[in-house]
Amino acid sequence: MAEKPKLAMYWSSSCGGCEISVLNIHEKILAVDEVFDIAFFPCIADFKKKDVEAYPDEHITLCLWNGAIRNEENEEMAHLLRQKSQFMVAFGSCAYEGCIPALANLTSKEAIYNTVYRNNPTLDNPEGIIPLTSVQVAEGELTIPAFYHTVKSLDQVVDVDYYLPGCPPEPEQIWAVLQIIVSALLEGTPLPPKGSIVGVSDVAVCEECDLKKSEKVISRFYRPYEIIPEAGVCLLEQGIVCMGPATRGGCGALCPTVGMGCRGCYGPMPGVEDQGAKMLSAIASVIGAGHESMEESQLEEEIQAVVDTIADPAGTFYRFSMANSLLKRAKVNGSN
Ligand code: SF4
Repeated sequence: MAEKPKLAMYWSSSCGGCEISVLNIHEKILAVDEVFDIAFFPCIADFKKKDVEAYPDEHITLCLWNGAIRNEENEEMAHLLRQKSQFMVAFGSCAYEGCIPALANLTSKEAIYNTVYRNNPTLDNPEGIIPLTSVQVAEGELTIPAFYHTVKSLDQVVDVDYYLPGCPPEPEQIWAVLQIIVSALLEGTPLPPKGSIVGVSDVAVCEECDLKKSEKVISRFYRPYEIIPEAGVCLLEQGIVCMGPATRGGCGALCPTVGMGCRGCYGPMPGVEDQGAKMLSAIASVIGAGHESMEESQLEEEIQAVVDTIADPAGTFYRFSMANSLLKRAKVNGSN
C-alpha cells in the first residue's frame, strides 16, 4: 500500500486557538485522518523534536505553522520544519503577520521582564531574578531559549508557501488549504502560485458587509461597551472603530454583522503595505470637527479631542499586523 502524505502542525508564539480551530472543520477531520498520516503535532500526539530531526528532508508533506517567532526555539523549529516539509503554511494571523504577540514590539524586552518578573503584584521575587539563557547548577548547565527583543512573522525567518490569515482561520479556509494540497498530490491539480493567501477575497470587509452605509462624519468614538449600536447601520458611522475599510475580506464580515467592529484579523487588502496606516487614513477622512472660519490651532484641538476618544490607537490599528507593518517595532530603550 502506498504511503500516505504526512501532516504536521506546530504551535509557536500564539494562544493555541489555531490548533483548536482545526476541529471546526467538524466531520471533515475524518477525511484528514484518511488522507494523511500525522508526522508531528505536539498538541494532540506525543512527538519529540528528535523524531522530526530523524526524518529525511521534505518527509513531511504539509506543515501548518501556527504562531509568531518570539524566541530562539521558535526560530530553530521553523528552520527544522521548513527543511523537513514540502509545503509550509503560515496558519493564522500570528504566523502571517505577528498578531497579538507582536504588539509587544511596542515595548522592550527589559520592560516585559520588569512587568512579568519584577513588578507584578502577585510575584514573590525579592532578588528580581529574571530568566537567563544559561545557568550553572550543581548538576551542570541549564539552558533556555533566548527571548527576542522583536517578534517576527514566520516569513521573516523562513520561506513560506501559503498563508492562511484569521484569528483563527475560518473552517472553510482550513479545508481549502488541505484540499489544495490533497488535490495536487492525488489528482495532479495545479497548485496556486507560491505566496498565495488562501481562502480570502480581494475586496475589503466593508464590501462584504451588508450594514447600511451613508456619508460618515464622526465626532467621537466609542468602545463596544459604551454604546448599543443601531441595528442595520454601519458601525463606523456610529463611532465604533471598525477596521472594515482597511481589512481584506473573505470572512463574510462576520463581526460587523453581529454588532462588533471588524478587528482586522485578515490583514491588509491587496496592494496595501500597512494596514494600520490605511485605517488611520480612512479615519482621518471622516472626522467631523471644526468649521471653515476656525483658527488652525483651535481646529487641531478639536480634531485631537475626537482622536483622543480612540482607546489605544496603536494597539487597535496594528492589533494583528505589527510585525509585518512598516513600523515593525517601536524604538524603545535602545531595542532593535
Ligand atoms: Fe465597513 Fe465596518 Fe461599516 Fe461594515 S460596519 S460597512 S465593515 S466600516
